[in-house]
Amino acid sequence: MKQGNPLAEANKRNPKDGVETTPPDLATPEKRAGNLIVLTGPSGVGKGTLTSRLLTEVSQLVKSVSVTTRKQRPQEVEGTDYFFRDKEEFDAMCREGALMEHATFAGNWYGTPRAWVDEQLVKGIDVLLEIEVQGANQVSESRPQSLLIFVSPPSFAALRDRLQGRATETAEKINERLEKAERELKQRHNFHYEVINDDIDVAVRNLVHIVYAERCRIRKK
Ligand code: 5GP
Repeated sequence: MKQGNPLAEANKRNPKDGVETTPPDLATPEKRAGNLIVLTGPSGVGKGTLTSRLLTEVSQLVKSVSVTTRKQRPQEVEGTDYFFRDKEEFDAMCREGALMEHATFAGNWYGTPRAWVDEQLVKGIDVLLEIEVQGANQVSESRPQSLLIFVSPPSFAALRDRLQGRATETAEKINERLEKAERELKQRHNFHYEVINDDIDVAVRNLVHIVYAERCRIRKK
């Protein structure tokens, strides 16, 4: 009798027959710590919108609220958008080691409160930092296991249009941000992933996949 192709034969079977659907009986793994996820990229690239969308699509993921010396904008809420502090208070937090990273941006200071982030990570919750590039580089150094995602604009002209359309800054501040963006875009190869924010739905989908893929990672970086 002609011998059948064993692979083809196996494929004919009901996929549930004899197929192991649960992992082998491994020792109970330790509770997994949350992942620290850094979302960075030039100002005006849409990090804020992407973050809000990502938070609605993925559970067990929270955003860290930064401390800043920048003036509160009319629609912003203390403790939700930022903790607004004066420079003296900000400096005191730096001295006490209360900030995981900090950087100056367009004349203001920004920083990530360390304690709250670590509490979430210990609980197994993923924490997203939506921060500018200098701060992202600091986290990359101090927390080498963090996941680093760079958001790029589809083009430099698109970024300029976006910043001008936002109308929250003076022309001088916009130019400052554009000059900085040009330098930052050159650093995108230092990050693990690049997400181009052209079609927002595509960008969000890619981010969701990256966050889920990181949760499945075995070998650490
Ligand atoms: P904005 O003033 O437009 O809210 O933010 C300016 C820039 O600062 C943005 O690129 C934003 O991502 C970044 N930023 C916000 N919070 C932090 C932070 O805690 N650390 C750092 N390094 N950058 C931050």
